[in-house]
Amino acid sequence: MLLRFLAGAAVSAIVSYFTLKKKALTPAAALESCLMMLIASVFGGYGVLFALVFSFLLVSIAGKLTEDKRLERTQGIHKKHGARDAVQVLVNGIFASITAILYYITSDTLCIALYFLSVTESLADSVASDIGVLSKKPPIDICRFVRVQPGISGGISLLGTLSACFCSIIMCGVFIIFYGFELRYFIIIALCPVLGMLIDSIIGSLLQAKYRCDICGKITEKTEHCGVNTKQVQGINVIDNDIVNLMSNGFSVLLGLLICSLMT
Ligand SMILES: [Zn+2]
Repeated sequence: MLLRFLAGAAVSAIVSYFTLKKKALTPAAALESCLMMLIASVFGGYGVLFALVFSFLLVSIAGKLTEDKRLERTQGIHKKHGARDAVQVLVNGIFASITAILYYITSDTLCIALYFLSVTESLADSVASDIGVLSKKPPIDICRFVRVQPGISGGISLLGTLSACFCSIIMCGVFIIFYGFELRYFIIIALCPVLGMLIDSIIGSLLQAKYRCDICGKITEKTEHCGVNTKQVQGINVIDNDIVNLMSNGFSVLLGLLICSLMT
């Protein structure tokens, strides 16, 4: 336990240092992710810590590769931009942290599989959004079947969806290396994150608040654009991207739990 704590503390300190240096996270968010990595290593063990660090790396690489295009194409759309804040880290990591603690209590590998699923869903969603922006054609709204601006919630692209599938397969491989192959775990880690990501787009399309700027006519997730207040044209005003991410991650974990209980 002490060794795992020390390993977790060392790794989380290094990762947090780089996320702060690269301005990927705010100081509060970096502290929070540090704590989540400690929880992962102490309660879940090395495999879980590795999964988290590996997904951080993949997110950072996808973010770096697409930075210029993404900033150019999604400018003025998102409510939050730049460094991720503590709420964004919390909604992406809360279910994973809970499953790591449950693993410590129960010693059931199912909790580890659900941990991988939750981390992979956040990873797939983030990577799909970043890589999807590189698509030549604008994304299609998953429910309305019309082309929308890149970056707007609810839009999906083939490139983004394929990169999410790629993340799921990679994380399945990491799981097998540490915990061996079991069909039901393979199925939920491969399938549920991608389904969670699609649910994210459906909730993003139907329920997330979207606004129109009267000055430039753009659809945005911000309540202010071009220096004036925007008008809400879609969705429910309390549902923003953080709530959508929390709902879709929770949904994917529940779906994984359901599939596993049906396969036992
Ligand atoms: Zn505007």
